Amino acid sequence: MLNFTVGPVMSSKAVRVVGAEQVPYFRTSEFSELMFENERLMLKFTKAPRGSKAVFLTNSSTGAMEAVIMNCFTEKDNVLVVNGGSFGARFAQMCEIHNIPYTEIKLNHGQKLTKEMLYRYDGQPFTGLLVNVDETSTGVLYDTQMIGEFCKKNHLFYVCDCVSSFLADPFNMAECGADVMLTGSQKVLACPPGISIVVLAPIAVERVKKAHVNSMYFDLADALKNMERGQTPFTPAVGILIQINTRLKEIEAAGGEDVEVARVAAQAADFREKIKDLPFEIVSESPANGVTPLHPLHANAYDIFLKLKDEYGIWICPNGGDMKDAIFRVGHIGYLNHDDNTTLVNAFKDLMSKGLL
Ligand SMILES: *Cc1c(COP(=O)(O)O)cnc(C)c1O
Repeated sequence: MLNFTVGPVMSSKAVRVVGAEQVPYFRTSEFSELMFENERLMLKFTKAPRGSKAVFLTNSSTGAMEAVIMNCFTEKDNVLVVNGGSFGARFAQMCEIHNIPYTEIKLNHGQKLTKEMLYRYDGQPFTGLLVNVDETSTGVLYDTQMIGEFCKKNHLFYVCDCVSSFLADPFNMAECGADVMLTGSQKVLACPPGISIVVLAPIAVERVKKAHVNSMYFDLADALKNMERGQTPFTPAVGILIQINTRLKEIEAAGGEDVEVARVAAQAADFREKIKDLPFEIVSESPANGVTPLHPLHANAYDIFLKLKDEYGIWICPNGGDMKDAIFRVGHIGYLNHDDNTTLVNAFKDLMSKGLL
């Protein structure tokens, strides 16, 4: 199998070896130590400000998005949601479900958010801003620094969904001033799905501690309190947390987060160079490193996905909804190298020679 999707992605050998072992009991000092190490490396790799905390939730990243909405906002807030695709729409839908007043900054598929567009909302009575830093459905990377300056000027509580951008695109939580960042285990962390991680800056920690959350499982104050002893309120996905530990240490040993970001960036650049003469259009105005969204000029995007999967054993990532027939995505995250790009490009060329691309 060769997997170019955006998650789950391929894992390193070390992560797979750990995954094959027995899952230990977890209310132990050994497991607490491992969790502290996970927290320390997450805070380091996100460049979180001093006094930040990380919590590990057992659910996919959508659970982390919803937990943040429930714990950080109320009906008294008024949030801006950057909505450039499926994940922006998900944030808007969550605000709807939890009765959080919101306004969407709607972008066309692939469109980037400019300063001018953002500052149309300057000086208005908003209290928060939600953004998917890489809107993975269209591969658009938003400018966290520019948005952060806007949030600072307008005193907005700033939430960054970095699910597919963490470790793929540069992110400096302290510098951009994000109050919360969230991510998941199955994207650039390249572990199995099941764990999401929320990093809270000191202001967010205070806010969460004071929140009245109408939920037992998604109570972040409870998660924070348990994390003081390196634990979680309920049984977590213990095996995946151990795999995350292996992976975080692997990244650290290879030089840290900036080296991993550069590796993913080079993987993306190599692919984009190799497809220059193929009949594709890159959809994103501001391509993120983690994924390249492609519009095939002469063929149906979903048919290409099926053909590659069924006849070549190669997985690319189909799009959903109204993008299904027009766009597919090629991921650059996980255990992939430049030779793998060549294998994929050769498969595209083979389809072309058969008149299928
Ligand atoms: C993948 C992704 C999510 C949600 O992930 P699940 O693990 O499927 O819940 C949220 N936001 C972004 C930007 C993503 O790429």
